Parts: sequence; C-alpha cells; structure tokens
Amino acid sequence: MTSITQSGPDRQDGFGLEDESQILNSVERWLERDVRPHVRALEHDDVYPHEMVEQMKALGLFGATISQDYGGLGLSATTYARIVQKVSEAWMSLAGIFNSHLIMAACVQRHGDEAQKQALLPRFAAGEVRGGLALTEPDCGTDLQAIRTRAARDGDHYVINGTKTWISNGIHGQAFAVLVKTDPHAEPRHRGMSLFIAEKGPGFRVSRKLEKIGYKGIDSAELIFEDYRVSKDALIGGEGRGLAVTLGGLELGRINVAARGCGIAKSALDAAVRYSQVRRTFGKPIHQHQAIQLKLAEMAIRTEAAVALTYNAARAYDRGQRCDMEAGMAKYAASEAAVANSLDAMRIHGAYGYSTEFDIERLYRDAPLLCIGEGTNELQKIIIARQLVERNPI
Ligand SMILES: Cc1cc2nc3c(=O)[nH]c(=O)nc-3n(C[C@H](O)[C@H](O)[C@H](O)COP(=O)(O)OP(=O)(O)OC[C@H]3O[C@@H](n4cnc5c(N)ncnc54)[C@H](O)[C@@H]3O)c2cc1C
Repeated sequence: MTSITQSGPDRQDGFGLEDESQILNSVERWLERDVRPHVRALEHDDVYPHEMVEQMKALGLFGATISQDYGGLGLSATTYARIVQKVSEAWMSLAGIFNSHLIMAACVQRHGDEAQKQALLPRFAAGEVRGGLALTEPDCGTDLQAIRTRAARDGDHYVINGTKTWISNGIHGQAFAVLVKTDPHAEPRHRGMSLFIAEKGPGFRVSRKLEKIGYKGIDSAELIFEDYRVSKDALIGGEGRGLAVTLGGLELGRINVAARGCGIAKSALDAAVRYSQVRRTFGKPIHQHQAIQLKLAEMAIRTEAAVALTYNAARAYDRGQRCDMEAGMAKYAASEAAVANSLDAMRIHGAYGYSTEFDIERLYRDAPLLCIGEGTNELQKIIIARQLVERNPI
C-alpha cells in the first residue's frame, strides 16, 4: 500500500494510542477477511450488505462516537475519521451505513436531555435501532430553511406531514432525525424549525427506493409522513432550535465525508501506483514515462493535502472548537481529490480502468457523491468565505 503520513491526533477520548491501534487493526482484519472479497459482487448487484451490518454491530461501529456512558466506544472524531477512511478504502457504502446514523446520535448526545439520551443512545450504539438524517425534500436541499414538512402541536404530541427524499438508510433504518417546520411563518425562518427523532410506525412509510449510479448497497429512499404522531418527548433541543442542532451534527458529518474522500483518493492512488509497476509499454513499466509520473505525483499530493485537512478538522472538533470552516475545507479538498484521483487512476489503467472487473470504475462512480452530500462543495466555499470574514474583523 502506498505510504502516506498522518499527523498525530490530540487525545480527547478515553482511549490510548494502543486501544486506537487495536480498533484500527480489528477493522483492517475485518475488511481484509469479510469485506474486500465480496465488494464487487454486492456492489454490482446493489445488494444491502446484511451480513456486514451484523459484523459492524459486533465491532461496535454503530456506537463509535457515542459516549461509553451510553454503551458506545466513545471515540474521538480523529480516531473515527481514521476508521471511516479505512472502511472507505475498501467500500465507501459501508461507511455511509454508520455515518448518518452517528450524526443522528450526535444530535441526541449534544442536545438531547438525559431521558432522551438514556432512551435512545444505548439502542443506537448497539445497532439495534439504526437510521440517519432526514433533511432534504423534493423541492430543497441546500436551502434547508425552505423545507415544508410540518409538525403541528396536538396536546402531548406533534403531527408530522411531508416528504423527505434521498434519505440514506431510509429502507433498512428504523429511526431518523427529521427536520421540520413547527412554525412556518417564523422570521427569521430558522426560528420556526425543529428536529424530532421519528421511529417508523403508522403514518411514517417508505414510498420508494431511489436508484443511483454509485453508492450502491446502501439504501437511499423517499420517506413520507402522513399524520404521523410523535410524542413531544422526541423533540431534540427544543422548539425553534432544529437548524442549529442539525448544523452542529453536520460538522461531524462533513469530517466523515472528508474521511471517505481520503479513502477513495488513497485507494485510487494505491491502485495506480501498483498498476504502473506491472503494466509495460514501449519496453518499460509505465511509471517510467514522465506523463504517468506527473499524474502519480499529483494524485499523491492531493491525497496528502486531503488527509492533512481532514485530521486538522477532526482535531478542532475534538477540542470542542467551532470548526465549520475547517470541516468545509476538508470536505471540499478530500471530495475533489477523490473525483480527480479516480479519473486519473482510470486513465493510468487504460481500458482496464473502464472494466467492471476492476475496482477503479466503482471509485469513479462513488466519488462525485462526496461533492454533493452533507452540503454541496459550492456551499462549502460560501461557508469558508463567510468564516474568513467573521474570524478576521477589521
Ligand atoms: C446518494 C445520496 C445520499 C443522500 N443522503 C441524504 C441523507 O441521508 N439525508 C438528507 O437529508 N439528504 C441526503 N442527500 C441529499 C443531499 O444532501 C442534497 O442532494 C444536497 O444537500 C444538495 O441539495 P439538492 O440536491 O436539493 O441541490 P440544490 O440545493 O437544488 O442545488 C442545486 C445546485 O445549486 C447549487 N447552489 C444551491 N444554492 C446555492 C448558492 N446559494 N450559491 C451557489 N450555488 C448554490 C448547489 O451547490 C448545486 O450545485 C443525499 C443525496 C444523495 C445523492
């Protein structure tokens, strides 16, 4: 495997470096033994990896960032990012199955009351109840304040009506952090937004599975709420605080996406370096041609830069600092690196890069999602610019 350096993490979790390397070794062994041999077949058939989900439960991945007080592993974002990168080097879809689940858990852990934490987090950590984040609607994704899903108070309950789309884990998940309007007339609009943990039941159904060019295996679905009744106890962080709670969770989400980008960028680089040493043209291995050397160097630089920015953002998150700018930079750099490296790896592989018998075509189909999900890269640049000005007042 191509060696890349990683800056050392600040220790914020209850784990020492030895524990961290034990966890990473267990994950690596699992990927080697139970994942890599099966990815191509499962991915091409777009099959949900039930068996791997059971193995991820056993590894504790559904509780990776949930506090040990609630049955999780209590890992720092830095250690977690390392796991996500490793998993994504093998198959990005698996990381998606626990990423959005853990963003939902982070919303409860950071903003829920004690009763909510006790009721939800142990079940999330065990993977007994899994799910994700339901923000996007058919008419809006980037402009979240334009959502139309409505929750109306009715005694001790709220009644939710609306449609959410592109929801990861939508079919196989049981619980979702659902962003709604509790006051559609509020100004500014975010004051009328709230976040509920909604568990599937009467009035909450999947309307259809959405087909995609990549990110196969994991289910993306449209969810419909029709007079769905949810207890007021499922409201996280109080009425009118839904957007703030969600955006806090998305900082971790963007670090996750960045780590996935590092995984794909590195996987593409590894494959290209290997292939350039075995493929010969004009009497020598292709890595001796300068045109290939330039590509390999650019791929390595992109990967290193993405890794550095990703662990920089994760460390800021672990220190409890506001890190939307750092997470935005990491997400942008790593996702663009994943896209560029997967295409360069395809070119270096020639026709084999275009073959469904090699992994490059999957990396090429998976990578662009990272530029869209958890806030598009255009939005990340806007966030970065706003923060630059806010942090540097004259
Ligand atoms: C496979 C997959 C999984 C997903 N999983 C989830 C999930 O689990 N939960 C969830 O809630 N959502 C999920 N999404 C949805 C995703 O978060 C949205 O697609 C994303 O936020 C962008 O929203 P949109 O598609 O509505 O694009 P739009 O908001 O309509 O944007 C369209 C284009 O306009 C650009 N744009 C928008 N506003 C501006 C602006 N102010 N300035 C400059 N450019 C702008 C965007 O960058 C984009 O290029 C998923 C999407 C996919 C494809």
